[in-house]
Amino acid sequence: MDYDILIIGAGPIGLACGIEAKKKGLSYIIIEKGCLVNSLYNYPQNMTFFSTSERLEIGDIPFISNNLKPTRSEALEYYRRVTLYFDLNVRLFEEVLDLKGVQGSFEVKTSKNFYKAKNIIVSTGFYDIPNWMGVEGENLSKVFHYYNDPSYFAIQKVMVVGASNSSVDAALECYRKGAEVTMVIRNGEISDRVKYWVKPDIENRIKEGSIKAYFNSEIKSIKEDVVLINTPNGDLQLDNDFVLALTGYQPNFSFLQHLGIMLEGRNRYPKYDEASMETNRKGVYLAGVVCGGMDTHLWFIENSRIHAEIIISHIVSE
Ligand SMILES: Cc1cc2nc3c(=O)[nH]c(=O)nc-3n(C[C@H](O)[C@H](O)[C@H](O)COP(=O)(O)OP(=O)(O)OC[C@H]3O[C@@H](n4cnc5c(N)ncnc54)[C@H](O)[C@@H]3O)c2cc1C
Repeated sequence: MDYDILIIGAGPIGLACGIEAKKKGLSYIIIEKGCLVNSLYNYPQNMTFFSTSERLEIGDIPFISNNLKPTRSEALEYYRRVTLYFDLNVRLFEEVLDLKGVQGSFEVKTSKNFYKAKNIIVSTGFYDIPNWMGVEGENLSKVFHYYNDPSYFAIQKVMVVGASNSSVDAALECYRKGAEVTMVIRNGEISDRVKYWVKPDIENRIKEGSIKAYFNSEIKSIKEDVVLINTPNGDLQLDNDFVLALTGYQPNFSFLQHLGIMLEGRNRYPKYDEASMETNRKGVYLAGVVCGGMDTHLWFIENSRIHAEIIISHIVSE
């Protein structure tokens, strides 16, 4: 099992790298620890992308959506069809654990196999590790760092932490399924990054009191039936059934370091050359959202699809 390129992660960008490698006649394998486009599979069931469908396209294959913005299920279908169309060499439910050797003769250990590859592309995303709030009670089973379906929370007292797209979508959906929703927001307003067509909706629901929001506030501790929050007017204890702590996610930094990739600065940016996407470890490349370190808004599908071409051109020219 000897390849020109081994790609870690079958997200949209890992798949784009596979397509580009195939187009250039290189041998490659894509290893994915979960299902195909695992991160997207784990997004909320009713999620809508902020991008229009053509901006999520890879391999020049049109992404047809009947909606203004495509949905999660349309994206799952699109990336599945693209994978089959190009007959990509993907191994699913196999985790990359270790990397030894140097460019030209890397040895990769996975949960199921050993592989040899001349080059490695790391496109492992950022959706596997939630940012913990670090408060007492956060590990209770009523606290979720991933949100899926609002129906689960009907007729329940739900606290949503944060004011990003994920938090706002969850708050609105749960409210519309009959939950009593309270938002706890560290800043003084709803984030400017919230989708422009959703922002007025949440702001008006807060204004009319349908959704309660505490701004400039933070959770102090969580118990089975209450949550203690700190507000500008002092501490408050609120009755509560569930907490949706949608406080963002981070790349697997220890995995990156284990691969020998250096991390720099407060945001732990992985070190790579922007012209080639090659990291400080020769022959190991970075692609996709993982490039942004803690700055997980920096790269997304739209603007990181290009990494595939940059990397493969560099490998071909070496
Ligand atoms: C709710 C939400 C909405 C979004 N909307 C948009 C949008 O509208 N437009 C847009 O452009 N972007 C959007 N994004 C961002 C976009 O989804 C990500 O940027 C995108 O998934 C990045 O693709 P990727 O291939 O780099 O990483 P991912 O899709 O995260 O793929 C990484 C893959 O690597 C796998 N992996 C990790 N470690 C290992 C390992 N050790 N071995 C094997 N496999 C491994 C993971 O399981 C995963 O499948 C959104 C993100 C979220 C959370």
